[in-house]
Amino acid sequence: MTNLATPYRTHTCGALRGDDAGGDARLAGWVHRRRDHGQLIFLDLRDRHGITQVVIDATEAPDAHAAAMRCRSEFVVMVAGSVVRRLPGMENAKLPTGEIELRARELTVLSEAKTPPFYINEPDAPVDESVRLQYRYLDIRREPMLRRLLLRSRLVEEIRLAHHANGFVEVETPILIKSTPEGARDFIVPSRLQPGSVYALPQSPQQLKQLLMVAGMDRYFQIARCFRDEDLRGDRQPEFTQLDLEMSFVTEETVMGFVEEMAIEVSLAVTPERPLLQVPFPRFTYAEAQERFGSDKPDLRFGMELVDLAPALVDAAGTPASGFRVFDETLAGGGRVKGIAVPGMGDASRARIDELTEAAKRFGARGLVTLGVTGHGIHGPAVKFLGDERAADVAARCGAVEGDLVAIVADRPGVVADVLGRLRAELGTRLGLADPTVLAYCWVNRFPMYEWDSERNGWHATHNPFSGVVPEDEPLLVTASGDPERPSQDDPAGRARAMQYDLVLNGWELGGGSVRIHRRALLERSFALQGHTFASMQEKFGGMLEAFEYGAPPHGGIAIGIDRWAALMADQATIREVMAFPKTSSGMDLMLDAPSAPDPGQYAELGLRYVGPADRA
Ligand code: ASP
Repeated sequence: MTNLATPYRTHTCGALRGDDAGGDARLAGWVHRRRDHGQLIFLDLRDRHGITQVVIDATEAPDAHAAAMRCRSEFVVMVAGSVVRRLPGMENAKLPTGEIELRARELTVLSEAKTPPFYINEPDAPVDESVRLQYRYLDIRREPMLRRLLLRSRLVEEIRLAHHANGFVEVETPILIKSTPEGARDFIVPSRLQPGSVYALPQSPQQLKQLLMVAGMDRYFQIARCFRDEDLRGDRQPEFTQLDLEMSFVTEETVMGFVEEMAIEVSLAVTPERPLLQVPFPRFTYAEAQERFGSDKPDLRFGMELVDLAPALVDAAGTPASGFRVFDETLAGGGRVKGIAVPGMGDASRARIDELTEAAKRFGARGLVTLGVTGHGIHGPAVKFLGDERAADVAARCGAVEGDLVAIVADRPGVVADVLGRLRAELGTRLGLADPTVLAYCWVNRFPMYEWDSERNGWHATHNPFSGVVPEDEPLLVTASGDPERPSQDDPAGRARAMQYDLVLNGWELGGGSVRIHRRALLERSFALQGHTFASMQEKFGGMLEAFEYGAPPHGGIAIGIDRWAALMADQATIREVMAFPKTSSGMDLMLDAPSAPDPGQYAELGLRYVGPADRA
């Protein structure tokens, strides 16, 4: 039974109801609003649980009245008195405490407050984000931030419940560790006791959780803080929180099955008002997701799928013969021509179409071909080359109906997918096609194991350096040369697919994981393909490779971004809105003024000297 009573209060400001009338109560909280009617002063008293109206009558309680005269917004006060029913017609149906008010006998000011830089009691008033971040403790007093932090707390609570109910053990892994690469730069912490050496903050607990599997923990989870030094974006922060989990003796099915069930349970518990678009979650291979949505994180709340237009552009012998040179040359050169049907833009103005074309160019296309479908036929500059019949066929293949605009990109396959995928995502938001109440989860799996890095002239893991290869592709790894000194772009390993799966929600990558390689020899082979010499493997992953010689069970896991999950559940565009104390886009904490110069003595203790920006070092 929750008991929130303390020496300062018998109830919270959200607790009193009609049934409490006739009794006494003592409340403590912040002055949300004060209305002075001369002899009567009304205070709305607020804490995080709610708001209660307090009435101070000068004739009943002259001292309390005098104290209330001094009160201003955000003063912290303690009030004692009797709970009375409000007069009929004076109830406030918007407040759970709206049937009653507290008639004060005594009022004590516990803390005075300066005028805040923004109104706490006007939660919708726009406030510059830097001011909100500098005074985050005041921002969190406002209802929207409070509501989101409560949602986040509920999310973590439900996650914990679901894991404990499924045999998981919560284990904390250390923050001062060795580099665990996840594709970002490490934050490093110099060691005083080992001068010249550094710890790295974990980019994720990846190696540690795998070592817990070797340790026989069977099922591990953690609400883990991760640190990645990279350029910040809307959904990135230098430190963030993951639900990190790992399971032993599992296949991809086992991990995805558990995670899916857990995600459904948690979503229904935390946001019961938000329908799930599809259960079980749809699954796409990476190749299929690229083909249909031009993205490995498709938003399924709207259609607008990418359609291959080649069949409408070739003759019976399969030779490009559309009459439109850009299309024919692209197809003849091994490129692709694909389109999407954009609802409601069929009679878009020249300016809007130019804007769309500019966006396509920004995303990497050479241009955009558009066909407007109106009551009077198909319109667009390409129609005179394609002819009416072929243009109508193209539009029909895209599923365009009257009022739609067909947007077509002809280019190399990767460019076509990427540009149309990004247009689709942007238009989905801009045209309001995505129902904001719906949660649309899906899985994307079967990613390529490795990606050719033309700058480094070698392969690197597309996701996780420890990911396993799908069993039927294992021979591609074994036959590969794997010589780190001589990587080849033709290596058959480049075709190998990983036992990697990403969980996607409303167009955001919520998390990703894999079934891992648990045999040392294969792991070494994979590391070699990723460009590690034997010496560099030893140096970076020696501890883990050794552990794998002592009996590593088959295992796999996933990590899910808690900040992203909470942001999506709270329908927010950035994760900062669900973090208590986020950093700015330049990595600053405006409230505590961090990062800041260390004390001179701290450098000396660590044997360090600041020599200026890196490029001058
Ligand atoms: N460690 C991975 C990540 O942080 C997740 C995983 O593979 O379990 O993305």
